[in-house]
Amino acid sequence: MEQEHPLVRDVFPDLVAELTTLLEEEGERELAICVRDVRLVGECGCGDDFCQSIRTADHPQGQPYGPGHRCVPLMPSKGMLILDVVDGRIMYIEIIDRPPMHRRMAQS
Ligand SMILES: [Zn+2]
Repeated sequence: MEQEHPLVRDVFPDLVAELTTLLEEEGERELAICVRDVRLVGECGCGDDFCQSIRTADHPQGQPYGPGHRCVPLMPSKGMLILDVVDGRIMYIEIIDRPPMHRRMAQS
């Protein structure tokens, strides 16, 4: 079994609280529930200052998501939050132009 990735809500609780609210406002009730259980698989890694995006599923980077994919853009008060969802599963959270996120747990 692969090493367990931490829950995003343990690492970035404020982010998950905000995403839950925004998803409920968009009428995305299922995603609002799913987002509580997504795991922090990795960071975007692009190195851009404005980008704090995170990967929440194992998916080969640079590869298309395929037919079940949809983008769910949200409207936060600052910056942009966009979810990449495949067949109801949150794969990636785009976090652009946002204030620095505070990590609750150190990464082991
Ligand atoms: Zn990036």
